[in-house]
Amino acid sequence: MQQFYTEPARELPVYGNFDVIVIGGGVAGFSAALASARQGANTLIIEQFPYFGGTATASLMANIVGVRNQVKPNDLQVMKGIGEELILALLENGGAHSSPETYKSERHSDTKGDLSYTFAFDTEKFKYLTLKMAVEAGVHILFHTRFSDIIQGGDKVTGIIFENKSGRQAAFAKVVVDATGDGDAAYCAGVPYWQVENDEAPRLNDSLMYRIGGFPDDTAMRGCRTAGTMVVWGPSSGPGNAASGDGLTEEEIRVRLAVYDDFSEKKMEVPDLRDAYIVETPALIGIRQTRFFEGEYKITGEDVIEGIVPEDSIAMAANPIIHYYGYRRFLEHEGYGIPYRCLVPKKVDGLLLAGRCISSDQRAFESWRAMAHIFCIGEAAGTAAAISAQDGVEPRKINIEKLRRTLIENGAEIGQNKKI
Ligand SMILES: Cc1cc2nc3c(=O)[nH]c(=O)nc-3n(C[C@H](O)[C@H](O)[C@H](O)COP(=O)(O)OP(=O)(O)OC[C@H]3O[C@@H](n4cnc5c(N)ncnc54)[C@H](O)[C@@H]3O)c2cc1C
Repeated sequence: MQQFYTEPARELPVYGNFDVIVIGGGVAGFSAALASARQGANTLIIEQFPYFGGTATASLMANIVGVRNQVKPNDLQVMKGIGEELILALLENGGAHSSPETYKSERHSDTKGDLSYTFAFDTEKFKYLTLKMAVEAGVHILFHTRFSDIIQGGDKVTGIIFENKSGRQAAFAKVVVDATGDGDAAYCAGVPYWQVENDEAPRLNDSLMYRIGGFPDDTAMRGCRTAGTMVVWGPSSGPGNAASGDGLTEEEIRVRLAVYDDFSEKKMEVPDLRDAYIVETPALIGIRQTRFFEGEYKITGEDVIEGIVPEDSIAMAANPIIHYYGYRRFLEHEGYGIPYRCLVPKKVDGLLLAGRCISSDQRAFESWRAMAHIFCIGEAAGTAAAISAQDGVEPRKINIEKLRRTLIENGAEIGQNKKI
């Protein structure tokens, strides 16, 4: 078989010139695009699904955790800004509830600044509200659109190539934010990365969440309950590589063929599920981790455990390290800071990282990967991208104090209120 095919060169239509392009509309990308547009930057977001949320909606991960430390000291609400705004909007629309029955934690209130550790939410209301927020902020949205490649001059990203029903097109931007989760753009740009190649090494498995109905109100089954249904944690994929075409397909086949066996086992364990049934499986297996890109700094497990708040802190996190030690390693402080340098890729200009692919070791990732923190990281990335585009300086050279000041003015918690 022929190993390579040389694609003929061709001219592509240019879709537009933007200040900021965000690739991927998961929790990180949604927050980045919203923050960037609210800063006044002309912002395009592309997303393969016709809604925002990524893992939160397309993979039915309907439970935001990490709003504050799960255990004491938990006085500091570490997730504020866009994530808090969305939770409050969900609560107002009957689309979320604090979920101590899912995760044992102390219940706070449902008011601004005093939110509980975790919230289960209605994925449809999440889709509706995030879209409304993005449209109201003037974000230019392209759904059903897949990122294909970056446009690069030397070590600087200047735009992207994408495909949708209109074919293959180019778009240019002063700053591109990679919020694809797998870091597809950073990978194409040649940013150095690492990933767990060998499944004997510690890593979080990908799993299929699925929605069930037909259970009694007082069921003993644990899951994310909204609107008379419940999303439950389903089969895990085992070894695989969700960042490759064959690998992702193998994982999908494995978990989708296992889903009815998994449900039968749950029915055996929880007899009150007798009449329950599967309502839906998600569009995409839940992918917890693939590539981590090398940034100007790599956050470590020590930073997390010691509660370091660096000078360039742009978001706070307090979630336990969930798996690495073989137990849930709770933190003994109110939170630690995510350095801006973790969002700035080594070598490549014109590009920022947002979400689960930022520069981190495994232990730190298992804490900051919670959605509450990903909202804040996304908001910081989008704010930084807008500042970079508007001030005409590369993301690695922006005025960090201006970024931090702007985030605080916009309601973010970046460590300014940490006491313990
Ligand atoms: C099984 C599982 C259980 C979890 N449990 C919890 C929990 O209980 N609580 C909690 O808070 N967190 C939980 N997490 C972690 C959390 O959900 C994730 O860390 C977080 O949602 C990641 O957000 P993200 O925006 O960085 O990435 P993603 O959600 O992966 O978003 C990436 C987005 O980019 C899009 N995209 C990717 N590639 C392309 C492309 N080439 N072109 C166009 N679009 C593209 C995707 O469609 C997606 O919308 C869990 C995760 C999993 C998988």
